[in-house]
Amino acid sequence: MKIAVYPGSFDPITNGHLDIIERAAAIFDQVIVAVSVNAAKSPLFSMDERVELIGKALASFNNVKVDKFTGLTVDFVTAQGAQVIIRGLRAISDFDNEFQMAVTNKKVQPNVETLFMMAKTDYSFLSSSLIKEIAKYGGCVKGFVPDLVELKLHEKFANSST
Ligand code: ADP
Repeated sequence: MKIAVYPGSFDPITNGHLDIIERAAAIFDQVIVAVSVNAAKSPLFSMDERVELIGKALASFNNVKVDKFTGLTVDFVTAQGAQVIIRGLRAISDFDNEFQMAVTNKKVQPNVETLFMMAKTDYSFLSSSLIKEIAKYGGCVKGFVPDLVELKLHEKFANSST
């Protein structure tokens, strides 16, 4: 069974992420969306909120599940019996970081392969940070994120003083 792990912060999940998941789910027997604790980023949504939003956004997929992890991605991948890490590439600006991570992961765990998928043109500009910025100032994020995420963003910013 070919299993791929799609790791990320998903703070929150966007339609760009969902497009990658849909395409990966058509290639692999199973895809595990793995929410990471990224110490370098302070998240808007808690880990449990992110997992819940992803779970609901994935309701129509029967070979995709969501999980959370701490520690090294390659350790999580191996523990799941998976062989592949999926990452999305938007612009050339993604490349440096992704290249460094892919090479490092290969050194740490040679059995795990990183597979890159190009972002769909419609979403190539889209990031979770941009979505949060738009929502924070009351802008419309419809079409960029699942409806439930749009709702949660409005709730979050309505209840915050920032
Ligand atoms: P991380 O903190 O690990 O970068 P993100 O949630 O920002 O977590 O992104 C997870 C993965 O999804 C990364 O590989 C990123 O490049 C990719 N990604 C993010 N936004 C998009 C998008 N709009 N289209 C395609 N891939 C994307």
